[in-house]
Amino acid sequence: PSPAPARLDLDGNPVAPLTICMIGAGGFIGSHLCEKLMAETAHVVLAVDVYCDKIRHLVDPAPPHLAGRISFHRLNIKNDSRLEGLIKMADLTINLAAICTPADYNTRPLDTIYSNFIDALPVVKYCSENNKRLIHFSTCEVYGKTIGSFLPKDHPLRKEPEFYVLKEDESPCIFGPIVKQRWSYACAKQLIERLIFAEGAENGLEFTIVRPFNWIGPRMDFIPGVDGPSEGVPRVLACFSNNLLRREPLKLVDGGQSQRTFVYIKDAIEAVVLMIENPARANGHIFNVGNPSNEVTVRELAQMMTEVYANVSGEAPLDEPMIDVSSSQFYGEGYDDSDKRIPDMTIINKQLGWNPKTPLKDLLETTLTYQHKTYKEAVKRQMSQASAS
Ligand code: NAD
Ligand code: UDP
Repeated sequence: PSPAPARLDLDGNPVAPLTICMIGAGGFIGSHLCEKLMAETAHVVLAVDVYCDKIRHLVDPAPPHLAGRISFHRLNIKNDSRLEGLIKMADLTINLAAICTPADYNTRPLDTIYSNFIDALPVVKYCSENNKRLIHFSTCEVYGKTIGSFLPKDHPLRKEPEFYVLKEDESPCIFGPIVKQRWSYACAKQLIERLIFAEGAENGLEFTIVRPFNWIGPRMDFIPGVDGPSEGVPRVLACFSNNLLRREPLKLVDGGQSQRTFVYIKDAIEAVVLMIENPARANGHIFNVGNPSNEVTVRELAQMMTEVYANVSGEAPLDEPMIDVSSSQFYGEGYDDSDKRIPDMTIINKQLGWNPKTPLKDLLETTLTYQHKTYKEAVKRQMSQASAS
């Protein structure tokens, strides 16, 4: 095989091949990051996860042209002494491991807090003690609700950017009360961010924190009853895909009025690669990674997905393509929501020159084409088995 072409960083210097310990490499983001690093760089990946279904094509077994470039280490970071050794072997650790599906935040708050705070602690500690660089995945949810959400509904200030745009170094973190256990995730992520920041300030840890704003694309989460539990509730892209595949109405939680900005996973992964290869520009920073141009309400998302899926599958939409459900019916007690998420892009633009590219319509076309191809037959089989039994 021909060697990967020499890569240059943003300042024109050659990038030396790195060994990267990627924790949570078997998940949605990890699988895309592994693919990108294998296809376009010479970096070596030590892929850590409890499962590898989404990277099986890269690791089980590794194809000959990737020999020595990627290895899979099946381990649970909660309780495995091999973790420190892997971090020591690497130049850089990227931690993606987390429980990060909202349906879990209010129903499994203890697991959520342990996963997002306690289990991340040893990773931070080993990086700090061994002088290893850390890229830690946090979330846009650390911003919580916008300041504007506390104003009356038609107040003119709600339209002013300073009442809703989310800025890494300026915006406050605004969560609901403790009984609203939805915020267990955001709060745990906020505390691990503060701990990493403090390790940087007091002990010199070289860190970068990533706040993803609704990254979506192929391989996100699972389709209940096909490659995940029948009763499982994934994030909205997979929930709506599942409804479309089964020809059932899309469920709009509390009217689908919340607003989100969606970014295509492949655009977002380019930002991560820039962070990996430009440490001098990325260290010490917290980065929003999202697409402010792709804002929709959840209701608008449902409409767009219904139209795009009809084109992709050739199946006419249902007469009533959506239904309203209350959040307590859908998620149970203790659910709450972020009202609006517009990322400020100033810092990532200045430090890394990164901009998202893909419009929402285009990324939905690619993603729903993938969902249809990957799942339609399996969903049909599963539905006919379920009706027969
Ligand atoms: P994901 O659930 O697909 O991936 C997480 C991976 O971590 C899974 O493969 C899981 O098996 C693994 N993992 C969890 N606990 C582990 C443990 N104890 N030991 C070993 N492996 C473990 O989620 P994702 O969308 O790829 O998200 C990755 C990170 O990005 C998470 O930290 C999440 O909070 C953050 N994030 C993602 C988004 C998004 O838009 N996708 C938004 C906000 C934040
Ligand atoms: N949502 C919905 N129907 C569903 C799944 C989710 O209306 O079947 C809503 C959810 O209440 C939230 C938004 O979609 O307002 C995005 O949810 P997601 O689980 O993707 O994660 P979040 O962006 O809240 O972290």
